[in-house]
Amino acid sequence: MQTKANNVDPQEIEKFSAIASRWWDSEGEFKPLHLINPLRLDFIQQQCDGVYGLRALDIGCGGGILSEALAKAGADVTGIDLADAALQVARLHALESGVKVDYQLISAEQFATQHPEQFDLVTCLEMLEHVPDPAAVVKAAAQALKPGGTMIISTLNRNLKSWLLGIVAAEYIVRWVPKGTHQHDKFIQPSELLRMTDAAGLQAVTMTGLHYLPWRGFYLDNHNVDVNYLVSLCKP
Ligand code: SAH
Repeated sequence: MQTKANNVDPQEIEKFSAIASRWWDSEGEFKPLHLINPLRLDFIQQQCDGVYGLRALDIGCGGGILSEALAKAGADVTGIDLADAALQVARLHALESGVKVDYQLISAEQFATQHPEQFDLVTCLEMLEHVPDPAAVVKAAAQALKPGGTMIISTLNRNLKSWLLGIVAAEYIVRWVPKGTHQHDKFIQPSELLRMTDAAGLQAVTMTGLHYLPWRGFYLDNHNVDVNYLVSLCKP
């Protein structure tokens, strides 16, 4: 069931809540996020010339894998999500790690209305493919961003290859993530994402693909955004 009014799919929230306790198990359901996190942190650091001292908003932060990494790198981080169980895990883990992150249970749209143009960096990683109306989240993310700020979005492209690798391989063969984690029709092609970011008044700076090869592990490739990809944008 989707409640489009507040732009959340309760089944998605239940799915992430049910496995929230294992968020920080680097061999568990979130293993791929743990593995890609250093790469995406590097990309974000490059795009912002370092995150030290930046005010950052992490939309759809879940258990806080990226939020904590940004905080450890010196950003002042607020993480928002609608899965309470994930936020509880995130808060406990931050205490254990000794990092300060402000975690809040609130939608992106509501948060952005309350905090317009307050963040130097807004991140929204692996989240848009789980919401009924991704364009509304992009718009909210842009509203929270200061003029001159940087936004980083990552999601999954929609094509045969992303179905084979992102769903068939990841959920049924290698079983890195639980079955049903992703729905292929919710994946977003780069052209569709750029239409959303354009409409939100953002300018694309660069785009890169995130890939996996068994003998190489995860790596970034600017020339191939077939499956998972990251986009950096700025707000003029
Ligand atoms: N961004 C994190 C977690 C990705 S998992 C990372 O990359 O490490 C997707 C997250 O999106 C989950 O925590 C889920 O609870 C959250 N989510 C799904 N729908 C949402 C919505 N409508 N609003 C806010 N968060 C949502």
